Amino acid sequence: MSRSRGTRFEGDSPEAEPHAVTRRSVLSNALALTAMTLAPAGLSRAVHAQGASGGLAAAVQQAQRGTKAGTYLVLLGTRAGPAIDLARGQTGSAVVVDGQPYLVDCGYGTVRQLVASNVGYLQVNTLFFTHLHDDHTGDVPALLSYQWSNGKTTPTDAYGPYGTTRLVAACVAVIHSNVEIRTVDEGRIVDADAQFHGHDVSAADTPVAVFKDDRIDVTAVENTHYPPRSKAHMPHRSLALRIDTKDRSIVFAGDTAYSANVARLARGADVFVCEIGDATTLALMDERSKAEAAAGNPNNIFRHVAETHSSPADVARMASEADVKMVVLNHQLAGPAPGSLAYPVTAFIQGVRRGYSGEVVVGQDLMVL
Ligand SMILES: [Zn+2]
Ligand SMILES: [Zn+2]
Repeated sequence: MSRSRGTRFEGDSPEAEPHAVTRRSVLSNALALTAMTLAPAGLSRAVHAQGASGGLAAAVQQAQRGTKAGTYLVLLGTRAGPAIDLARGQTGSAVVVDGQPYLVDCGYGTVRQLVASNVGYLQVNTLFFTHLHDDHTGDVPALLSYQWSNGKTTPTDAYGPYGTTRLVAACVAVIHSNVEIRTVDEGRIVDADAQFHGHDVSAADTPVAVFKDDRIDVTAVENTHYPPRSKAHMPHRSLALRIDTKDRSIVFAGDTAYSANVARLARGADVFVCEIGDATTLALMDERSKAEAAAGNPNNIFRHVAETHSSPADVARMASEADVKMVVLNHQLAGPAPGSLAYPVTAFIQGVRRGYSGEVVVGQDLMVL
């Protein structure tokens, strides 16, 4: 698909000036930024970068000043949780369609990244959750609270698996004191209870319609992030989401191991956003899981990571089966040393390209695609 139209993201600062920019030029800047670390042959089409940089910030700034038409993916946070580090934000992305942002996941730091990207947080009317782990929901109370405090008057609706309605209601309860104080002290009139709504979406093996408006069409399937042994004891489910617009299709795999459902949902998509952990890190997690099990704790977090997340081979298998045009890696797992801030970017690229011949982009916070 040929895409050369730019976009303009109107954030909370009104001074952004129209300035044409193409997605290609954004990618070019990102490539230039990372070219020095792209030594292995055959990787010339892959994009990767680590850490914040002035070069990338400049590319994002250019994108923000483009025209509004078209569909753009803005990566807000690209690290796997629940850990927090200063190199990458927890998972969150914005799909901006003709200037209107839709948020997909809202991990810790997402509100700051909405400001940094100039997408803005007051403009978010609709958000989607792939699942309700805290590295995908941590910033929801902040998002809703600052929308209310900073003058948003229109509704905000969140769609996600079982528990989403309860989560949004709980977030409103968290901000209730703030609402009461400002309502009395500042003459506010917006009712937070009536402004924010959560909607539970059913999980299924075949795509289910989740949301539709005049810009996007969203469908979902259940992925494999929660194993049967856990699902037998809880109503929670984990989703992959597909957003179709008039000019683009973007699929978010969510947190998942290999999933035939996800491959089906992603069939022919322009962009396949998928989590990743490199094989060495996942093998290390498997070893630690076995040690924990031997010590009497079989359902430990290391087992969770090793069994319910995607290796590069898993990503490649889903991307290849779905025949997607581009893979974008997010929810990246740091490693291999526990607590390390090193992201094994080269291993990500090489691992995925072993089983998938399309374009591979290793996402970075604030990257625009
Ligand atoms: Zn996660
Ligand atoms: Zn998760």
